[in-house]
Amino acid sequence: VTHWHSPKFHAYFPTANSYPAIVADMLSGAIACIGFTWIASPACTELEVAMMDWLGKMLDLPSDFLASSGGKGGGVIQGTASESTLVALLGAKAKKLQEVKAEHPEWDEHTIIGKLVGYCSDQAHSSVERAGLLGGIKLRSVKSENNRLRGDALEKAIEKDLADGLIPFYAVVTLGTTNSCAFDRLDECGEVGNKHNVWIHVDAAYAGSAFICPEYRHYMKGMERADSFNFNPHKWMLVNFDCSAMWLKDPSWVVNAFNVDPLYLKHDMQGSAPDYRHWQIPLGRRFRALKLWFVLRLYGVENLQAHIRRHCNFAKQFGDLCVADSRFELAAEVNMGLVCFRLKGNNERNEALLKRINGRGNIHMVPAKINDVYFLR
Ligand code: PLP
Repeated sequence: VTHWHSPKFHAYFPTANSYPAIVADMLSGAIACIGFTWIASPACTELEVAMMDWLGKMLDLPSDFLASSGGKGGGVIQGTASESTLVALLGAKAKKLQEVKAEHPEWDEHTIIGKLVGYCSDQAHSSVERAGLLGGIKLRSVKSENNRLRGDALEKAIEKDLADGLIPFYAVVTLGTTNSCAFDRLDECGEVGNKHNVWIHVDAAYAGSAFICPEYRHYMKGMERADSFNFNPHKWMLVNFDCSAMWLKDPSWVVNAFNVDPLYLKHDMQGSAPDYRHWQIPLGRRFRALKLWFVLRLYGVENLQAHIRRHCNFAKQFGDLCVADSRFELAAEVNMGLVCFRLKGNNERNEALLKRINGRGNIHMVPAKINDVYFLR
């Protein structure tokens, strides 16, 4: 086993774990319900609705995303950020298809789908490109500026596609990129998305947990312009894998896109609570809300905030050590718990350094490369 919770494990991204999460996961395993509809296990659905609202309030999400606001919005626990990105893409695709069909009844579905185009930055996670492939649409990688997607670059890409007769429908804004934990300008991109009727999905897989701390919420500026938002409590909020929190302002696009209604899944209470089978790709789903409930109740907001701040301080300390040592340099600004650093000089020296570190079998790290500059992270 590669021990992801060893203090010497620094590869990929953190994965969360804690005593209450494990107890809740055991309980979920023991209860062993499959909560695909409300009637299939009402507590499984209702606790999820309640926990997603608690969590949304902890992050100070716009109330449009919360079920308790009384509007259309609400949250769901997906397995991974990759699924959330794909589900949002499919919802956006269904929405645009309906709009374009109404405008051009003479166009068939095949023609419209051939014109659809989505956007993300060149720093977006590979799962975004994959969602494009799985969703059968073109996805454009837009050049980032200082690793962040800016509104004007997104706007130029959209305008060029419109001029070429294509139909922009979806854009992913990343808050906390995998390579360097950079933050796309949600405020700018959200404005552009709204102007062009392009669905904005926010992928904050890792960094989203930090938004429980008010001092990091400035990165969320513009969230009211987004259509869907996702982060992984299973990365950094002490809930073990899998627990990927996703909110939708108007879930009906996703619900309708996936709606297949055989008799054996219908029930009398349809419509009074979400039937989460419509919000996700599989039918079956575990009682994952228990993990969130136990973690939130046992630690409370302040302890979870302290956990995030402690990690950010570790990163700052390590970043300061790199800067203080004349052999090293930072390859990107230190953001959240991530430090991107390298030996001054060429890539080969850094490849050799990482090989030596990992080769000792003590510390484990992975590299990244931005603009052909190789670094350790
Ligand atoms: N998005 C970002 C920004 C990520 O950093 C990652 C994983 O590191 C993902 C998406 C994919 O996450 P998941 O494994 O939950 O699909």
